Formats: sequence, structure tokens, C-alpha cells
Amino acid sequence: MIDNTLATIDGAIRSRWIWTGQGQPIRDGVIRVEGDRIASVSEWKDFNGNASEVHDLGDCCLLPGFINAHTHLEFSDLTTPIAAGKNFAEWILRVVQHRMLSSIIPGVPAKQAALDRHHQGAQEAIRGGTALALNVVHGALSNAVDGLYEIPFAELMDTTDLRCQQTWRSARSMMRECVDRDKLNENRSESANENLGMGLSPHAPYTTTGRLVCRTVERCRRFHLPLMMHLAETREEIEWIEKGSGPLQEMLEMMVGPIGNSTADRLPMIGYVNEIVQAPKTLLIHGNYLDHDSRLALAKHRETAAVVFCPRTHQHFRHEPYPLEQMREQGVRVLLGTDSRASNPDLSILEEARKVSQEFSSIRPEQILRMITADAAEFLGLERSFGFLRPDSIGIINSVPCSSLSAETVLEEVLNSQTKPVLFGKS
Ligand SMILES: [Zn+2]
Repeated sequence: MIDNTLATIDGAIRSRWIWTGQGQPIRDGVIRVEGDRIASVSEWKDFNGNASEVHDLGDCCLLPGFINAHTHLEFSDLTTPIAAGKNFAEWILRVVQHRMLSSIIPGVPAKQAALDRHHQGAQEAIRGGTALALNVVHGALSNAVDGLYEIPFAELMDTTDLRCQQTWRSARSMMRECVDRDKLNENRSESANENLGMGLSPHAPYTTTGRLVCRTVERCRRFHLPLMMHLAETREEIEWIEKGSGPLQEMLEMMVGPIGNSTADRLPMIGYVNEIVQAPKTLLIHGNYLDHDSRLALAKHRETAAVVFCPRTHQHFRHEPYPLEQMREQGVRVLLGTDSRASNPDLSILEEARKVSQEFSSIRPEQILRMITADAAEFLGLERSFGFLRPDSIGIINSVPCSSLSAETVLEEVLNSQTKPVLFGKS
């Protein structure tokens, strides 16, 4: 179901500029949509369709629907981020507390409350121009599609043996739901809903054992699933990985006792990286404090492994400067994510790209916008449908006001602007 949050495309849209996801923007272009797919992209002078069906947006730039490579829609009921607190462990405890409280709404079953939060997040993502989101799901899959194309990742943790059993039970249930959802989509007359499948997400080193990470990689390989894991996010995590001590260890002792599973079975950072890059596709989330060897390993596997930088979450925790330029120079593939509203004021992936543009002047606007469009789609193997505006792409199109006179300054203006995008799609 395409939600009414999308502006409707009825026929064709013309605009001062079109950036297709690659190369120079097209001046005075037009995109014609047929069914749920793009039929043609051309200059206005070459348009041979019915002029009466063209909706002229004027001074705008059309761009592909954006791809958010990491989020947790379950926290979308938060109106402001949870304060960073005196350390990361304290923030995690507040997030866990929020998760428990937000599922207790008088008269509303917990599952429905989770669906409502997901729905809220999906709507917000669409309003920010997102066409596709890679969303970590805690517990069972929320089966609402909500107009947002989504790849759900089942979150896995095994801090205790009981938690280990629960985590795999939820993941199996999500796999069954995904198979059913994809079967349902196959039966639809139009191909609006891609079979996007799902992924597995061992949460982070301090909540998963080395055993769980290895088992997840083995499952991902067997079922051809992508893997997503938070790694090298904070200095506290590095201390925990290296010494098994610090605020995260204290948090674990408070929650699961002194000899929690993960404490007894942890790997060095490069051990986690070497393991997870064996998955068919790997998304390493944050990587704020990756060591040299880990970055080299990620660069070596750049066809199948990417780091996802979440710029405004990075700012929320006042981390040390992000080594984005260094990673790119080393050959590490970097995509962008919003993370959740627990650490970000909204779910706009375009605002993440704008943040990168403000902070990293050496990276060209096209390279930045590709991180949330073409690069992300190609990495995921979804470039036929997402990340580009070209015949056969899904007919979901962003429009951002742009009055630039020169093709050279169009993308810069898109990134410098503070205007929200409007996402067009078939209603
Ligand atoms: Zn996250």
C-alpha cells in the first residue's frame, strides 16, 4: 500500500533540473511514470508524450528516492532524542527503559503499540524523502509496509541463555513472516513491491557473544541474507572489547550478572570484523573508532561490506571527529543512516547528507548524494529499482526546490538548502 504521505504522480513531471543518480543534472527535464515504474527520463524538448498530462514543478531538482542504510523505526514515538547522559551505558539503559514503557499503553496491546510506532516512523521517513529503509526490528516483525520499502533486520542478542533462545525464536518468526510477505507481493498484479527479503543483526559486541556472531554469519551465508552490526561505536565499547571493563561491563553486571555470556566470549575488534565480512553483505554500523587493521579488512571487502555513518547521531554523542575522508581514501565503502529518534531529532536521511556536506568540504556534492542513492542501491544489488531515475526504476521521485542556473551548482544547492524534499509516488 502506498500511503497518502506521498504526493501523487499522475502521468509525467517536468522540472528545471533532474539528477538521475549519476553524472551531470539534466536541464529542463521530464520524467514519465507508467504504473509503478519510470517509463522515460528525457529533456523536455525530446518529450513525445501527452503534454496535457505533464505536471510542471518549475524551479526544482528531481532526485531518486533516498536510501537510509540504518534506522530503528521502533523508537519513532520519541519527539526529542534521549539525552546522551554521562556515558553511553547510561543512554542504553534509558533506551531500554523507554522501550519497556512505550509498550505499556492502557487499552492498546503491546504488538499494536509497536505497529503504531513503526507506522509513525515510516511516515516520517517518507516525509523526509526516503524510499527504502534498512530497519532493525526488535522482537517480531511488524508486518505493516506503510508505503515505505523496507528491509527489516532481526535484532539478535544473547546476554543470557534464555535471551539466546528468545532471539532465535523471534528471528525464525520474522523469516516466516518475510516469506509470506514476499509470496503475497509476488501474487500482486503489479511489481510495486520488490521482494526485498530481510537481514540479521547481531546487536553489538557487548550484547552478543562471539559464538552468536559466528552463527549469524553462518545463517546469513546459508540463506543469502545481509548482516548488520553496531561496531566500534564508542570509546567505552573499545575498553570493553579490550579489557572487559568500564561502564558497559557495569551495565551488563547490573542487567545479567557478573558472568554474562558476552563478557565470557568476546573477540578483538578485528576478530568481529573478519567474521562479519564473511556474510554475503555486511553493514557495519558507526565504525567511529575502527582500528587500522579493521579498516583495511573492510576496504578489502568493499564489494560486500560497507560502513554506515550516522552523522547527527555522531554529533549527539559528541564523538571524536569522524574519519570519513580517511576511510574513503583507504577504499572503505561508506553509506549513510539516520539511526533512530533516540539519538536523532528526525529521520531525514537528506539532513544526514547535508550534515556531511557541511563538515567535509573535500567530498563533492555528487559523491555525498550518491551515498544515499546510487551507491547504496548498487551495494545492496537493488540498482534496477532504487537509487536511480531511469526507465524501469520504481516511480518514487524526490523533488527539492532549486533555481540554479548552472548544472555545476545544482547538487550543491540541494545540499545547502534547508528545504524538505517532497516525495512523489503512485497513490
Ligand atoms: Zn543503531
